[in-house]
Amino acid sequence: MNYADLKSKLRGALIERGDAQYHEARKLYNGMIDKRPDAIARCVDAADVMACVNHAREQGMTLAVRGGGHNGPGLGSCNDGLVIDLSAMRTVRVDPPARTAYVSGGCVWADVDHATFPFGLAAPSGMISSTGVGGLTLGGGIGHLARQYGLTVDHLKAVDMVLADGSFVSASEREHPDLFWAVRGGGGNFGVVTQFTFDLAPVGMVTAGPIFWATDDAPEVMRRYEEFITDAPRQINGFFAFMVVPPAPMFPQELHLRKVCAVMWCSTAGPEETDRLLAVTGTWPKPLLRRLMPMPLPVLNSLFNELYPPGLQWYWKTDFVDHLSQDAIKAHVRHGSNPATMHSTMHMYPINGAVHDVGESVTPFEHRKAKWAEVIVGVDPDPAKKDTIVSWARDYWDAVHPYAAAGAYVNFMMEEGPARIEATYGTNYSRLRRVKARYDSGNLFRVNQNILPAMAAGH
Ligand SMILES: Cc1cc2nc3c(=O)[nH]c(=O)nc-3n(C[C@H](O)[C@H](O)[C@H](O)COP(=O)(O)OP(=O)(O)OC[C@H]3O[C@@H](n4cnc5c(N)ncnc54)[C@H](O)[C@@H]3O)c2cc1C
Repeated sequence: MNYADLKSKLRGALIERGDAQYHEARKLYNGMIDKRPDAIARCVDAADVMACVNHAREQGMTLAVRGGGHNGPGLGSCNDGLVIDLSAMRTVRVDPPARTAYVSGGCVWADVDHATFPFGLAAPSGMISSTGVGGLTLGGGIGHLARQYGLTVDHLKAVDMVLADGSFVSASEREHPDLFWAVRGGGGNFGVVTQFTFDLAPVGMVTAGPIFWATDDAPEVMRRYEEFITDAPRQINGFFAFMVVPPAPMFPQELHLRKVCAVMWCSTAGPEETDRLLAVTGTWPKPLLRRLMPMPLPVLNSLFNELYPPGLQWYWKTDFVDHLSQDAIKAHVRHGSNPATMHSTMHMYPINGAVHDVGESVTPFEHRKAKWAEVIVGVDPDPAKKDTIVSWARDYWDAVHPYAAAGAYVNFMMEEGPARIEATYGTNYSRLRRVKARYDSGNLFRVNQNILPAMAAGH
């Protein structure tokens, strides 16, 4: 393929096979994924993105769009096609009186945290701030503020996008409302978002940290945790985990590498009020460690960044969960108490509270009435451990899946086939397909959890 014409239209760099930067540029966060695109365009503005979209469509090329590059199955890249890499588009502008942030399409959440924290403001994001704003937002967005402020998409006010025909549009409740509905959960199916506009929440400092318990206490802790989190005050967020304590200085040495169950708390209340709100946990089994402290939200959001640097091997399994029955707890304890490796873990992120305030068809994120988005991740730096982490995650998921609700969070899925995507969007799926047909009938944007255009399937 000759890229001279495309190159002449770009202000950003075009990196081709054989270029010195190619291997570095094609790397994804998940070291298990090894994709080799034909070329990677480091777009610097919407005009660059438009040129790439037009080029890919006209040449009939596979086109991938890369935001933060964190996607589990590597849907920010492709083999043999063109990658629109947005990582050079990382501007954030905050309008404090309007509590609004204008965020370029290639930002990671650390960029947003950095820009909003000085104003005592935050966009609800995810648990690891090296994750891209693009993919996380377009799939829904579940994080430490979910119970109080909802999903990331619940704070999305508008997007600027390049569509499959190369045109540039803004979408909001007022302009292209169908498109704006679709991008709030429907992933990268509808075009390339060059700017996100977020409504910010008044959050600066939080009181946060883990409580660890022995895995022998897990059945009782899981039962008490469900009882509490179902109706807990919304300032309190806490995700349940099975994990191995990392050998980090913030933990006592005697706990290093111990397998534990845990709840990672984040409260928007101050330390004393948080103690009061969490007083009930004093009646739960005696913990091995309780380490909550005041910290800036950006510190909490980056707490795991070092433990999980780019390049580790990752394998994901996921479900939504409504309730933890005794049998489900037994299955969790059997598998969760024995993570495959130090980095492997199971998290249950609560999506009740404010997430439940929004109707199931208001955005494509249909399964809002579930209590948790559960994720089982087999993770390790060593590629030779691939089979070990994959079989641990699969066996664990096979054991707990029978107790799960329908569907799964798209951002925690590997490539699991059309039925799983359809189940995830449930009754919103046919509407998504109609919007897809209107804006991308040729399915140019198909390197994602793909929604087939309605007409292509005869609908
Ligand atoms: C360590 C880790 C922690 C995570 N924690 C959370 C969490 O707490 N909460 C949560 O909700 N999710 C979490 N995730 C999942 C995360 O939301 C998804 O992996 C998401 O796809 C990552 O987005 P990205 O932009 O980094 O990925 P990419 O791989 O760049 O892109 C993912 C998908 O989004 C599309 N896309 C990205 N940017 C754009 C754009 N600007 N316009 C159009 N399409 C775009 C891509 O085409 C691709 O299909 C986590 C993932 C990892 C690896």
